[in-house]
Amino acid sequence: MRLNNKNIVVTAAAQGIGRATAIAYSKEGANVIATDINEEKLNELKAENSNIKTEVLDSTNKEAVENFSQSIKDVDVLFHAVGFVHHGTIMECSSDEFYNSININVYSAYLMSSFLLPKMIQKNKGNIIIVSSAASNVKGAPNRFIYGTTKAALNGFVKAMAADYVKKGIRCNAILPGTVETPSWEGRVNMADDPKQARKDFINRQLMGRLAKPEEIASLAVYLASDESDFVTGTLNLIDGGWTL
Ligand code: NAD
Repeated sequence: MRLNNKNIVVTAAAQGIGRATAIAYSKEGANVIATDINEEKLNELKAENSNIKTEVLDSTNKEAVENFSQSIKDVDVLFHAVGFVHHGTIMECSSDEFYNSININVYSAYLMSSFLLPKMIQKNKGNIIIVSSAASNVKGAPNRFIYGTTKAALNGFVKAMAADYVKKGIRCNAILPGTVETPSWEGRVNMADDPKQARKDFINRQLMGRLAKPEEIASLAVYLASDESDFVTGTLNLIDGGWTL
């Protein structure tokens, strides 16, 4: 019960890292509101985990995020996992694709944080955890031009937020995974010209020779959400099986 009675909002909770984290938080005693745009998968999550509340929320929709923030009484932790992987170099990234990735990966973090922060400031305690990526300012990955750019922006976002609110009892940290076995990752593998080779390449880039399970990312997320990490802020937590060694 490392998160007993903490009120936690999780975004992108319908699948992958967000889903595993919502379940881990609930198992540790937190009151979890799991949000996503995928209602069907949220319902599946709810059916299997009756303690978790679910709510359809598009984290890029200002009005929806504002209404959501007004509808909840209290929040101790925001775990923000919304993200989209665009495949390609700068030459394969149109203006629309550029802004779409900024919108989903960066603007969503801005909206969720800025609307939930006042509730944290009010009580001089709060905790924001952003899912970034090792593919960012830490590691250049081929065909991840706008993805790496947005994740590098999120690393700056976390540092700036941590600096601005450290005196107000609010912490802000990032999680930077390597390759994680999630539905969207499976989709990216299957879209490759040679899916078998793509799978091998993704696995081999981690020197540990395997992918992460979403539950392994959730373990780090539990630590960062708990009071065990109360002295930790502004950190970029790599969890990448040795990819960036
Ligand atoms: P995923 O891509 O499989 O699922 C993402 C979820 O986000 C989906 O349920 C989707 O419905 C939801 N979503 C998309 N747009 C949304 C929006 N506007 N509002 C609310 N929900 C929205 O999940 P994943 O692979 O676990 O990725 C989660 C996060 O982890 C992302 O930020 C991703 O960039 C990051 N990450 C993933 C990996 C990986 O290998 N899977 C590696 C590093 C970082």
